[in-house]
Amino acid sequence: MVSAAEVRRADVVVVGDQIDSIGAGVGAPDDEVLDATGCLVIPGAVDVHTHMDMEVGAARSADDFLSGTLAAACGGTTTVIDFATAYRGEPAAQGLATWHAKARGRAVVDYGFHMTVTELTGDADDLVAEMAESGVSSFKLYMTYPDRLMVTDEVILEVMRAAGAHGAMVSLHCEDDSTVASRRSAALAAGRTEPRWHAWSRPPSAEADAVKRAIRMAEETGAPLYIVHLSSAEALQQVRLARERGLTVFAETCPQYLYLSAERYEDISERAARFVCAPPLRDPWHQEELWEGLRSGTLQVVATDHCPFTASDKRAGLTGEGWRDFTQIPGGLPGIETRLALVYQKVAEGMLSAPQWVDRCCTTPAKLFGLHPRKGVLEPGSDADVVVFDPRARRPLITESLHMKIDYSPYEDVVVDGWPRTVLSRGRPVASDGQSVAAPGWGEWLHRGPSGSVAGI
Ligand SMILES: [Zn+2]
Repeated sequence: MVSAAEVRRADVVVVGDQIDSIGAGVGAPDDEVLDATGCLVIPGAVDVHTHMDMEVGAARSADDFLSGTLAAACGGTTTVIDFATAYRGEPAAQGLATWHAKARGRAVVDYGFHMTVTELTGDADDLVAEMAESGVSSFKLYMTYPDRLMVTDEVILEVMRAAGAHGAMVSLHCEDDSTVASRRSAALAAGRTEPRWHAWSRPPSAEADAVKRAIRMAEETGAPLYIVHLSSAEALQQVRLARERGLTVFAETCPQYLYLSAERYEDISERAARFVCAPPLRDPWHQEELWEGLRSGTLQVVATDHCPFTASDKRAGLTGEGWRDFTQIPGGLPGIETRLALVYQKVAEGMLSAPQWVDRCCTTPAKLFGLHPRKGVLEPGSDADVVVFDPRARRPLITESLHMKIDYSPYEDVVVDGWPRTVLSRGRPVASDGQSVAAPGWGEWLHRGPSGSVAGI
């Protein structure tokens, strides 16, 4: 059994939907036994960054709450937090209701919501209090995408102040929009529209500048800050400096930034479009820095930013012949099913410890977003979300072996060592040997408690 603290030999007794007891020789003679000999028994993984069933222009992310959470279960993830979004002109409660309707009766594992705020029409305190009452204790704001999502620094400061006062967490998408906007216009004016110019238009310096600004705002308001999908060494350095100063700053990275690089954009075919995401993939040397950030704890979480678009959606873009113009390619990659095994590869190599793997993928995400101790740990009283992970299983990450509703795999050249053999969600099997045995609607919505006030992470 692997926790965020240790590896030990133990039996886990599940009664109903919860963990009852843990230890050597616990359990009764007539209990049903799931033999985990030779396997690692870990808490169900928690993915705090997904975009299911989300419209982006004419496209829509390919996984809805049924297919997306089914794929999550097959890969060992038993809790997801998706981004409910209140678009401009829409009250937060309405955005939240829309996302509840998307997920209800469909999700096969438990799920919660963050609230994405795209404008502030009333008082930030009222908004944060209303959402806290509705079980939503984290907010997402964007420092780019001026057309639909970006908010001003003034709005970020107001939401941070209110969130800090109510024990809520503020997540930020950090890319400096002035840099992005000016590079984008320059590229387009020069006729440089292929996917590789997407990466050029969003350089690591734009991310690092925004991270620095975000940290300054968090310091000014005293609010905890969570930086999503950190992709570059420069941005990582800003987080390291802030944490050394004792600021409550957290950051996640994603498997695409750990495994894939900007070389993918050099493909002259439409395949390059499949790798368009923001922040973009970076030069290969950043990967080593990010892994080291995870090892040292400068990065606390691996989440996925799961936002898949089919090959034809990527090709068509938002307007038709889209992929030749990087500004028209829907951004995002699939990843909800492959995260746990991809991060495990560094445990197999001896770079990360097994407890670090559990900590970054299961325990800390649950703690940061108000789900601990119900989720993210195997302890008496916790939900019986259990993964029996077989380190000897080998799996090629090709489309045919995965369940995400998408016709390509960004990791088709990767064969992983280790895959979940059995996955339980609240005591019930939802995946077995990488195949789904889940029931639509089994997943429950999670009313989350305060985030943010987390010591020692
Ligand atoms: Zn995202």
